[in-house]
Amino acid sequence: MTEVIRKQIRIEGIVQGVGFRPFVYRLATERQLAGSVFNDSRGVLVDIEGPAAVIRSFLAALQTELPPLASISRLESETRPVVGTAGFAIVESRTGSSRVAQIAPDCHVCPDCLAELFDHQDRRYRYPFINCTNCGPRYSIVTGIPYDRPLTTMADFPMCEVCRSEYENPLSRRFHAQPNACAECGPQLSFADAQGQRLPVADPLAEAIRRLQAGEIVAVKGLGGYHLVVDAANDTAVRRLRKRKLRDEKPFALMGPDVDQIRRLAHLCKAEEKLLTSVERPIVLLRRRAACCLSDVVAPNNKFLGFMLPYTPLHHLLLEEFTALVMTSGNQSDEPIAFENSDAQARLQGIADCYLQHNRRIHIRTDDSITRVLDGQPVLYRRSRGYVPRGVKLPAELPAVLAVGAELKNTICLTRDGHAYLSQHIGDLKNQQVVDSLQQTIAHLQKVFEIEPQLLAHDLHPDYLSTRVAEQLAGELPLVAVQHHHAHLASCLVDNGQPGPAIGVIFDGIGYGSDGHIWGGEFLLGDLREFKRVGRLAYRPLPGGDAATREPWRMAVSYLYSAFGAELPELEFLRQLDGSALKLLLQMIEKRLNSPLTSSVGRLFDAVSALIGVRNRVSYEGQAALELEMLINQDGSEESAYSFALKRIDDLYHIDPNPMIRSLVTDLTAGVSLAQISARFHNGLAQTILDVCRSIAAEHGSLPVALSGGVFQNRYLTERAAELLRGAGFKVLLHRQVPPNDGGLALGQAAIAGTRAATDGWN
Ligand code: ZN
Ligand code: ZN
Ligand code: FE
Repeated sequence: MTEVIRKQIRIEGIVQGVGFRPFVYRLATERQLAGSVFNDSRGVLVDIEGPAAVIRSFLAALQTELPPLASISRLESETRPVVGTAGFAIVESRTGSSRVAQIAPDCHVCPDCLAELFDHQDRRYRYPFINCTNCGPRYSIVTGIPYDRPLTTMADFPMCEVCRSEYENPLSRRFHAQPNACAECGPQLSFADAQGQRLPVADPLAEAIRRLQAGEIVAVKGLGGYHLVVDAANDTAVRRLRKRKLRDEKPFALMGPDVDQIRRLAHLCKAEEKLLTSVERPIVLLRRRAACCLSDVVAPNNKFLGFMLPYTPLHHLLLEEFTALVMTSGNQSDEPIAFENSDAQARLQGIADCYLQHNRRIHIRTDDSITRVLDGQPVLYRRSRGYVPRGVKLPAELPAVLAVGAELKNTICLTRDGHAYLSQHIGDLKNQQVVDSLQQTIAHLQKVFEIEPQLLAHDLHPDYLSTRVAEQLAGELPLVAVQHHHAHLASCLVDNGQPGPAIGVIFDGIGYGSDGHIWGGEFLLGDLREFKRVGRLAYRPLPGGDAATREPWRMAVSYLYSAFGAELPELEFLRQLDGSALKLLLQMIEKRLNSPLTSSVGRLFDAVSALIGVRNRVSYEGQAALELEMLINQDGSEESAYSFALKRIDDLYHIDPNPMIRSLVTDLTAGVSLAQISARFHNGLAQTILDVCRSIAAEHGSLPVALSGGVFQNRYLTERAAELLRGAGFKVLLHRQVPPNDGGLALGQAAIAGTRAATDGWN
């Protein structure tokens, strides 16, 4: 006979509101173990008594057979004196002092709920808010912790008898499913006209479908905010949406009814299919099929389409009638996504023809996440719904830090113990509404994670609005300014569970450098504490500052001027320019008027794009570079590369692009195809990355190479550079959990500030 023992098991992580207690109950009762399980504010506590061997098997199953939304970040078990309890019970929630419980991200509707949704016999047949412990809204409806119905926006809906009995039955799939509801007691759809006047329609969903089929723009309230929706096959409707949203060319996101339908419109490899159908249900960038029947204005001049699958029951019902719907964030350009009914009606006035809305409040706005498969694995372009607020494990325990992120694609980050919590996408800090949203997000995350930051981290740039926010919030707390590209490096290190040191190849658009110039083509040697700049792209004037970012031709002229002097070669893009504007620009460059110096690789991409005639002006960030990348033939047949010159000045490697620019101009005049020119440019840059890393390694020893910064959203460049580096024996670190662009920056800021505080003995 085996010995009977008793254990107390404490489990932390995403273990509340995800069916964890019923799961424990099942494991225990199957094994005839006695004891109890309950939620407290740190997570879940299990008391278990029985034969030692059976308890071992229980412990193993606890960690390997988790419910779909659960994840364990810490599990501790202690032996307790045997008391001889009988039976196993789920005990009511208790609140404790230390609040470590984590909230699950919002989750797409699960297959069980979906089956009920379309089952005529089910009492929730076609009920658009069906959910269970394995699915439904979480992060967006939580108002506080512990995660329990009164602390969600579902507090507005008292459960009916039947729902309550499910909620209280440990064997039901809806046991303690906080958003549990049915048509009797739960949220309801409603329909409103362009002025926001509620229309007394019998079936709001059918009305919305009818309007969409008629080509109208319908604002649909979703999980984390409003979408502006039109039929993606209706060219006139998509054009109207572009015009009203003041969005010229930036691609619109699409939702297709299922994988098979999406496969008819875009190419889908195994990894892409897996990402598209993952529990996070992100938007995935997919190569458009030639025969794709959707409107061309969905994504003008773009070979890629951003597709997602339906993720709420309402989406499934809507998509029954369409090949694909445009589902773009419900906002005006540059504003945060609308998420409150009255706010949506005020801000979408003049854009939406009507509204399909509901009365379940969204507590915190969350945009759709954007992803792509790169180097065979998913990479995030925007980390938001489905991923947030899941933690990222830090290489070490750090003091509590609040990092306020970057100016563009802002997100914030909070750390506690060994984890970092990156917020949802907040947006570009260009107006007060986004800054308000940033402040709300900070307050909300601090509350639900109960984190009292001990220090604040911000970008080195003195004029960033995020820096102001940090200064206002800091009070007596220490402020740590973190250099932009160092933060990118640290973000990539943490993303890969590495403390460093590493060689950071940080290529992006614009970041404030330690020397006051605009950086963006950097080779850094560093870890989570400090860094040294060991190489960079040569500085070039950025004529007109910010204007050059919107008008890539300016940068093209700047690069040509450096390579050829004032006698510019005869190129088509120059002929298209206004003569006096060009003359003025040349003067600006010569006299260095309003022309800060930059080493930005993002701007080099802009220059090349304009030079070869892709575009002189952009209507959204990164457009020129994206279109340049898309020119390359998919077969990867072009092997030639333009050479950059590498010089060593003092202890810094300078990458001189002049030889590359000259070869490119020669090719262009000789009529070499744009596909080849673009490939040769990319190949040359990848080769340069390898050359510089080799030189650095020769001096400092072989270190892993971290590729970070917005430029590494470029699949061709990233895959090629990674391949070359691996071929030369380097370990390559790419972003996987957070974006390589500024959306992942706050994680790096937090890690650096926290590490400095910890290692300097400050705590
Ligand atoms: Zn479900
Ligand atoms: Zn009900
Ligand atoms: Fe950046």
